[in-house]
Amino acid sequence: MTAYSHSRVSCFENCPYQYKLRYIDKVKVNVPTTIEAFMGEIVHQTLEHLYKLKKFKKRVALNVLIKFYRDLWDKNYSEDILIVKAEKEKLTANNYKKMGEKFITHYYERMKPFEEMTILGLETTDRMTLSDGNQWHVRIDKLGCDNKGNYFVCDYKTNARMKDQGEADSDRQLALYSVWVKDKFPDAKSVKLIWHMLAFNKDAISERTDEQLEKLQQDVIERIKEIENAKEFPRKQSALCDYCVYKEQCPSFKHEVELEKIEDIKKFKEDEGVKLVDEYSEVKTKQAELKKAEEEFKDNLIKYAKQFGVDIVYGSNKKCSVKEFDKIVMPEGENKEKFIQLMKDKGLYEELSMICYPRLNSKVVGGNIDNELKKMVDIIRDFRLSLSKRKDVEED
Ligand code: SF4
Repeated sequence: MTAYSHSRVSCFENCPYQYKLRYIDKVKVNVPTTIEAFMGEIVHQTLEHLYKLKKFKKRVALNVLIKFYRDLWDKNYSEDILIVKAEKEKLTANNYKKMGEKFITHYYERMKPFEEMTILGLETTDRMTLSDGNQWHVRIDKLGCDNKGNYFVCDYKTNARMKDQGEADSDRQLALYSVWVKDKFPDAKSVKLIWHMLAFNKDAISERTDEQLEKLQQDVIERIKEIENAKEFPRKQSALCDYCVYKEQCPSFKHEVELEKIEDIKKFKEDEGVKLVDEYSEVKTKQAELKKAEEEFKDNLIKYAKQFGVDIVYGSNKKCSVKEFDKIVMPEGENKEKFIQLMKDKGLYEELSMICYPRLNSKVVGGNIDNELKKMVDIIRDFRLSLSKRKDVEED
């Protein structure tokens, strides 16, 4: 049985192709540590240290804790840690270091003397068995209880965005941990999920009913089934692609990554792919211009034919016939439905309606059609090309 986790299932939900690269093909990539992740880790370790000492009834003064944090930072910091906002927002590692200090200071002042709960575990790791037999990773930053049977599953967050109540109430990760708590501690009367939002010195709190937890488990089991039965792993492009570490392996970004390695603009322009897209784009632009010009010529020819009372206009080598004819305009909205119904009532629909090819295509390809019908059509591979602007490139 595979051990699943919130991040593994989320990976599949966000982009099945990324899931395939990461968990099935197990592609090894260099994942740079970002400064945000580094700061988060050092803050976590510092708070873990604080509660560990507290467990042994040892009080740590704030300045001692901050010194611990600074030493830990200095010992682990390395120059290859990525500071994405260094260029844009002129942020340095020291800014982040100070930010972490501020988070710890505010948390310390708010929570001292740290007797909000009896600590049962710090950075707890375990596995729980879901009702389908699959394993689920459990990792809790701070687990505690009080003497009234209330349990607390706490997560430290260093995010720059406050978690709102809606998000807290729909969060899957901590909610599933409450299933684990209820299983491990049968005296648990309630399990409160607490996110310590350190950047805001506030907590986001949520609690689930047994029915909600049962439904959540079933949803997760369904999702795991979907993952295990998946035969195709399509790419799902989204804003998350900006942070994807598999861009070099992803067919949607591989070429872009290759191009980024070219420093010389001349060499960039000589790239076979760049040339093809540039020329294709030019052809498409000309095509659109020609289409516009065609419409203008049509209008002018119609005007000319009307003005001079002719229905054939002669050129040097070709002539153009301009014939006027009647055509219907289909009724819209409610009337369209009435019209179709009337056609059906009068037995004309079969004869006059057409098959909607794009809808039929997606039903057959998506496997959402009767098998007998599906067998009667062939499915062949084809290509669809679409041009769009590169968001990372400024217009000339
Ligand atoms: S870059 Fe985007 S589409 Fe490609 S694998 Fe990563 S998340 Fe998926």
